[in-house]
Amino acid sequence: MSSNVRVRFAPSPTGPLHIGGVRTALYNYLFAKKHGGDFLLRIEDTDQTRFVPGAEQYIIEALAWCGISPDEGIGGETIGNGPYRQSERKSLYRKYVDQLLAVDKAYIAFDTSEELNTLRQMAKDAGATNWQYNYITRGNMKNSLTLPKEEVKAKIEAGASYVVRIKLPRDHEVRFEDTIRGWVSVNTNNMDDKVLYKADGMPTYHLANIVDDHLMGITHVIRGEEWLPSAPLHVMLYEAFGWERPVFAHLPLLLKPDGPGKLSKRDGDRLGFPVFPINWSNPETGETASGYRELGFFPSPFVNMLALLGWNPGTEQEVFNLQGLIEAFDLSKVSKSGAKFDFEKGKWFNQQYLRALSESELAVELKKALDKEGLSYNEAHLGKIATMMSERATFPQDLLAEGRYLFIPPATYDEKTRNKRWGKDSAGMLQDLAARFETIPDFTETNIEAAFKGYLAEKELGFGKVGPSFRLALTGRGLGPSMFTICEVLGKQEVLSRIAKAVEILG
Ligand code: GLU
Repeated sequence: MSSNVRVRFAPSPTGPLHIGGVRTALYNYLFAKKHGGDFLLRIEDTDQTRFVPGAEQYIIEALAWCGISPDEGIGGETIGNGPYRQSERKSLYRKYVDQLLAVDKAYIAFDTSEELNTLRQMAKDAGATNWQYNYITRGNMKNSLTLPKEEVKAKIEAGASYVVRIKLPRDHEVRFEDTIRGWVSVNTNNMDDKVLYKADGMPTYHLANIVDDHLMGITHVIRGEEWLPSAPLHVMLYEAFGWERPVFAHLPLLLKPDGPGKLSKRDGDRLGFPVFPINWSNPETGETASGYRELGFFPSPFVNMLALLGWNPGTEQEVFNLQGLIEAFDLSKVSKSGAKFDFEKGKWFNQQYLRALSESELAVELKKALDKEGLSYNEAHLGKIATMMSERATFPQDLLAEGRYLFIPPATYDEKTRNKRWGKDSAGMLQDLAARFETIPDFTETNIEAAFKGYLAEKELGFGKVGPSFRLALTGRGLGPSMFTICEVLGKQEVLSRIAKAVEILG
């Protein structure tokens, strides 16, 4: 493929970006980078009634967190084809509407929304399918095709409100090849003369989208399946303008984990997982929704999980970083059918990522968790502790949750272990051990282990006789990582004081 690939992500700022939207942005980005092309971010805010303050900022922040950085447009280089916010391009669209009007590919319509609603209701009452403004009905409506030229002119001059509609030809087969879905074919007899330009002087999504894609030199339109029904209209618009159209690729839906249908926020609430990349708080309603970032996801496994929902590399490989995804990505391996969302699998990706971090990277994560809770620690031990705890962790906060007893002495002792493992001679044995520990000059894992084993050998005791009660005394738990490592990171004084406390409480 040539290297002049140009794709765009064109969200409408109507609320937080759903993870399905993030996946659309990601596929565009991967495709662009794979082919050495450009990824643009354009904000489609023509529908002022659905505008939500803060949504644009949210989109930018969410994409940045994922590592998806636009080459051009909002958040990227903005010279050349800007502005990239459609509301700021308002003055530009009228010219294109006039162009279509001049060649009879569009017409002016004065019908009010009340009149249209009445017609729709009448059709419905008569049992007809959806009433459409089309090649048949337009002949009976108030528009520039039915009214005399002078009347149209006079109405406009008098300030009458009007829209501009596309004039679709009768019985024309609209055909295009979608990269993912193959050939799509729709007859114009089944299509609506959609509004291109609204009474408020704003273009509709359809017009602005096509004009902008053309002016911005977009070569591939990669977007969600919900836009597939609009694609034939878009094809007709390209034809009406006489412009070359981009390649279309409509992505499969993200489905609920447990049934048919699109994954919604309600499913996330019901099943206990977020459907947004980062936390969202609606400044207008005060409503909040949780995000993957705040839950403890790292950007890389989050992106990895999304990439594999609807695409597969054609190999067994599952774990990818962003660069690996760019290299492996192929639009032709995107599936037609919807992808079932799987939160557990997402957690697995995070876990894989966490476990692959180096000791010092894990230490940084643990430190963040400790600082957040205001707990004190010995910096020198953090790497060791975090590595030890990473075995059981999915999220960075688990590094602390799983090893909290390394920072705070146990307040309680596991009941089951206590009943099974704490005997009448346990206290005495632990006190003997403590006495030996006291004499170790250099309190390291190896020396502690030697002292412990020496004690067992001398007293001819099996490990099971001392080990579990020793662990219970120090950690309050029945299971966990190596006791010798635990002792080293706790330090001699702490070990001795925990043994003393356990002996006092457990008797
Ligand atoms: N503004 C549309 C959206 O919100 C863009 C659809 C497209 O990519 O053409 O998804």
